[in-house]
Amino acid sequence: MTESKQIHLINRPTGLPSKADFALVTAPLPPLADGEIRVRNDWMSVDPAMRGRMHDVESYKPPFKLNEALYGLAIGHVEESRHPDFQVGDIVRSELGWRDVVNAPADALEKIDVGEIPPQAFLGIAGMPGMTAYVGLLRIAELKPGDVVFVSAASGAVGSLVCQIAKLKGHKVIASAGGPEKVAYLKDELGVDEVIDYKAEPSLTKALARAAPEGIDVYFDNVGGDHLQAAIAVANRFARFAICGMISQYNLTGAPTVPRNLVLIMGKALKLQGYIVSFHEDMKPDFQRDIHQWLADGKLKWKESVVEGLENAPDALIGLFTGNNFGKMLVDLRPAQD
Ligand code: NDP
Repeated sequence: MTESKQIHLINRPTGLPSKADFALVTAPLPPLADGEIRVRNDWMSVDPAMRGRMHDVESYKPPFKLNEALYGLAIGHVEESRHPDFQVGDIVRSELGWRDVVNAPADALEKIDVGEIPPQAFLGIAGMPGMTAYVGLLRIAELKPGDVVFVSAASGAVGSLVCQIAKLKGHKVIASAGGPEKVAYLKDELGVDEVIDYKAEPSLTKALARAAPEGIDVYFDNVGGDHLQAAIAVANRFARFAICGMISQYNLTGAPTVPRNLVLIMGKALKLQGYIVSFHEDMKPDFQRDIHQWLADGKLKWKESVVEGLENAPDALIGLFTGNNFGKMLVDLRPAQD
């Protein structure tokens, strides 16, 4: 009998989740039915959006159920197959993470041809976060020649690619991130023009105004709150905001207090548009073509923060909200190497 180790959500967190909201559970897996595939997960993605699904409210995805395995993106390999399209050893991506092994129907799996790219990059720069950056900057923010671009949470999985695409296309980029190490990486490795350490600035609006005396034309928002307020304050007329995420708001227990300057949106004729990457699947071929070309040409860099072992996945998730990650947060589920 195969056993599956899984992380369950056992409480709906208030504020920042804690380890006590999760449990590691071992459950038996039934034998494979006809048409099913047994997948052993090797890498698991940890994403800020999971926090939203911990509330018992309907959104673009249903809430997580208590006392069941969580769901999240994962890369694994086929261990056993009773489906003609999947062979043992195939690399597959699914949303059946937060468990080490799973019996999956074929339509829950996407075969990945990894080529020269490390498989876990298909959870990061060559996967959902990468496409989020691409869609947000090119379609939602309608990047135009000459735009000055401001990016928050800029050293993260999404933000670091936004910065690099904008630089590849010749733009002035202003980034914000927490702490000197992230600031140095953005400036020295990614070639970002101006970087704000938001944790060290008494006024984000003043810091942004200093970094962008000409104003900003595009704001790629990963943070919301005070970052959104600063971007609205410094935006030029007709600036476009891609509202990708608002991580500063996900653990709030009371009403938000910022931004307080929404009225400026009208007078400056700003365009703010939220989006969900999965609503833009039509851009996937373009994204895949461009990302593979840029990677093959050595034009992109990425970082990973890797947590070892399924049992430590809750810490990895919690760490996203305190900036513990530097680049894509991943959990390595492969057996420990000696
Ligand atoms: P990141 O790799 O960027 O990790 C999150 C980062 O957010 C942390 O490293 C931290 O960096 C920063 N952060 C956390 N709390 C705060 C805070 N209170 N104020 C400022 N910064 C904070 O995560 P992702 O790249 O996966 O996601 C980035 C954003 O994109 C998130 O908001 C996420 O929800 C959103 N997203 C949206 C999608 C969509 O379809 N719309 C799809 C995927 C992601 P630092 O140390 O710099 O503070």
